[in-house]
Amino acid sequence: MQYYSTNRQVKQANFREAIFKGLPADNGLFLPINIPQLPSSFFENLSSLSLPEIGLAVAKEFVGEEIPLDDLKKIISEVLNFEIPLREVENNVFSLELYHGPTFAFKDVGARFLARCLSYFVTQSKEQLTILVATSGDTGSAVANGFYNVPGIEVILLYPGGGKVSKIQEQQLTTLGGNITALEINGTFDDCQRMVKEAFLDSELRGKKNLTSANSINIARLIPQSFYYFHAFGLLQKNKNSIDKPVVFSVPSGNYGNLSAGLLAKKMGLGVDHIVAASNINKVVPDYLSSGVFDPRPSVMTISNAMDVGDPSNFARMNDWYQGSLEEMQKDIAGYWYNDEQTKAALLKIYKEKQYLMDPHGAIGYLGLKAYQKINEATGIFLETAHPAKFIDVVEEAIDEKIEIPASLAACLEQSKVAIEMEPDYEKLKEFLLSK
Ligand SMILES: *Cc1c(COP(=O)(O)O)cnc(C)c1O
Repeated sequence: MQYYSTNRQVKQANFREAIFKGLPADNGLFLPINIPQLPSSFFENLSSLSLPEIGLAVAKEFVGEEIPLDDLKKIISEVLNFEIPLREVENNVFSLELYHGPTFAFKDVGARFLARCLSYFVTQSKEQLTILVATSGDTGSAVANGFYNVPGIEVILLYPGGGKVSKIQEQQLTTLGGNITALEINGTFDDCQRMVKEAFLDSELRGKKNLTSANSINIARLIPQSFYYFHAFGLLQKNKNSIDKPVVFSVPSGNYGNLSAGLLAKKMGLGVDHIVAASNINKVVPDYLSSGVFDPRPSVMTISNAMDVGDPSNFARMNDWYQGSLEEMQKDIAGYWYNDEQTKAALLKIYKEKQYLMDPHGAIGYLGLKAYQKINEATGIFLETAHPAKFIDVVEEAIDEKIEIPASLAACLEQSKVAIEMEPDYEKLKEFLLSK
């Protein structure tokens, strides 16, 4: 498969080039030049296919011959080695629990797929690869876990010290060891990001080190997120025997990677009627859907902080697919947004009435789905993107009860932190990288 840039100023890239580059040089985003259509037999059999079988059928269309089928099969089976269950919360309202992976948030699937594809290519060429990431919390742990013990790759994470990431997040970043090194920067997230950017611009360093980023806009993080939608459809078929209403997905969104993956699944032929863009008050995309004006602005902090994005990068992909037409986008996507009070109220209500505990992001997905179903008949699935225990303070406050932390998350709290402290100075980072 070849990939073009949404800015169309650079030549097309193959899968390997697209994932090593991450961002095309013209600052656009990579998209496949054509959308593979899966055979009708695939859709008819969805309910009898396992998650890895679905993943392989979809992934091979995007990877092509660049990774031999047997190797791709191995990659997929390692990436998808946990359950993604579908739970019925109310009549015609289902929760797709994407948080049963190692870091308890949905980003595991994308990060693991990217890690293993990169590893395949560097092992083939006997290279060593260094992944450099600045993180404000969640992305770092998914990336760190995704690359943990992956051959040929070392990971250097930069995170802001002094309590700027939560305790659980810091433990997740600093207790892995092995090929993961955490640098605790005596500064802010912006300092971390600036140091990483300087490294990528330093040609002397890049001549000596094979550096890549694991940025969330990498196409290899997007592709595997489309697996969820096929899988959910199969589970829905199993649950309901026949699907008699239009099927709608509600996606709690920040950078719109997950939602774009849903659009990709729909374009590949999955019978999705609409996708709900469910947002917190950082509502740039719902605003666009109602006004036609895309107006990025600084993000505002909320309790669904993984969605605090003021300039969602994947909008470029969405817009490209609809050729800039608002009307066309509205045919597929409906936007809703909620504030923190509404989010907490929904969390409490569903916990009390249905004994189902959501996290703040999932709660926004639930609310968006209900709003859509108020005016349209639909069977709905909302994506539950994180385990409630990852946001324990917010969740316990909302329901006024203590909740249990899953054993493996609790276990990481017991381990001792290993991090190298560093001043927010690029020369220090460079010295460190060259000494490794
Ligand atoms: C990253 C994240 C989101 C937002 O996903 P996007 O693909 O950026 O829209 C939602 N919920 C959680 C828990 C996340 O970590």
